[in-house]
Amino acid sequence: TQAYLANIEKAKALNAFITVTPDKAREMAKASDARLAKGEGGPLEGVPLGIKDLFCTEGAPTTAGSRILDGFRPPYESSVTANLWRDGAVMLGKLNMDEFAMGSSNETSYYGPVVNPWRKKGGNSDLTPGGSSGGSSAAVAARLCAAATATDTGGSIRQPASLTGTVGVKPTYGRCSRWGIVAFASSLDQAGPIARDVRDAAIMLRSMAGCDPKDSTAVDRPVPDYEAALARSPKGLRIGVPKEYRVEGMPEEIERIWAQGVDWLKDAGCEIVEISLPLTKYALPVYYIVAPAEASSNLARYDGVRYGFRAKEYKDLLSMYEETRAQGFGDEVKRRILIGTYVLSAGYYDAYYLRAQKVRKRIFDEFVEAFGRVDLILTPSTPSAAFALGEKTADPVQMYLNDVFTVTANLAGLPGASVPAGLDRDGLPLGLQLLARPFDEETMFTGMAALE
Ligand code: GLN
Repeated sequence: TQAYLANIEKAKALNAFITVTPDKAREMAKASDARLAKGEGGPLEGVPLGIKDLFCTEGAPTTAGSRILDGFRPPYESSVTANLWRDGAVMLGKLNMDEFAMGSSNETSYYGPVVNPWRKKGGNSDLTPGGSSGGSSAAVAARLCAAATATDTGGSIRQPASLTGTVGVKPTYGRCSRWGIVAFASSLDQAGPIARDVRDAAIMLRSMAGCDPKDSTAVDRPVPDYEAALARSPKGLRIGVPKEYRVEGMPEEIERIWAQGVDWLKDAGCEIVEISLPLTKYALPVYYIVAPAEASSNLARYDGVRYGFRAKEYKDLLSMYEETRAQGFGDEVKRRILIGTYVLSAGYYDAYYLRAQKVRKRIFDEFVEAFGRVDLILTPSTPSAAFALGEKTADPVQMYLNDVFTVTANLAGLPGASVPAGLDRDGLPLGLQLLARPFDEETMFTGMAALE
């Protein structure tokens, strides 16, 4: 804990943490030492973690990267973080993120962008660590914490993991409780770990996961020993390679790394099956209807009365709401509220929202069919390596394209993971994604171990 706190101090320029909690960290570490001295201790005893600032932590500021939660100290603990503390983990602080987890580069945070500890060979411009869990990915890559919590609504665990050479796991929807996680899009949000290697991710997910009476979507199923799945042989696993996971202008190196991943799995005794997922092209448009719709509804609660920030000057109640929301939300959040309100409004609901939900169901069906023939699906995690801060901020659609390979898993509720697969010509990390059947994270971990 001391060593990580010192690293955090030295790496302030990365802007990975919004809040560091050194007193709490030392207190928790001491309690861990005491338990260990008595021969007690959980699976994460004394392990110092960073927590994405979307998880409510009792008494410690929780901002969701937004001004509108300025000053908010939750009176309760999220179920996922409570599970981690139950197993002995130590909290170092709260990690920076895109505002309300909306973004792919960590540039929408009210607290400023996070800098990727990786740089291009010979280059000196600051790169994005991905988003929205950019604080989590940068902190793990820069050794500012042993591992971190993150959340993934459309790729926010897997894309930042890919861009920083770390491992990111988004479990099946329902595997982790969402209770106490600030909501973005409730039917898509899932928590998961970002860690240095596959084994750490397996150990951490096991602690995070589990049924929870406080979240009716957290599924009542036993949580398997994911670490044990790493030792299983991948021999005989059928790996689907979907030809649609390509975009125009995708660097050749991504194809090369993908082909290399196929070879690794083939060498490990897997059977490679070419598959087709033709509805993939609709995933991004469907996501950017469903996610903003749910967000516009979830964000209605920030009105200057219940939480954090309130505008200083206003005339009456209505203008207090208006001023608070105008000053409290950033541009990307406002864009999502506008899109979401529009697609849900009378006259447009059928044409956009309802239609999107129907396509979403068909995307799910397409995966079910594919998983009748294969056990895992292998794709690139992202269509590019880390890009420069500022490079895509002027064009939201360019930014949204980052999620083209990751949003499908959220729409279908499937587990997905990104594993570091190598470096590109500029010396930047690239990840490969594995998707699995719902609640079959174990097979996914077996495949991840074979790729690592
Ligand atoms: N980048 C996507 C978005 O902006 C996904 C974010 C996420 O997974 N939280 O919505």
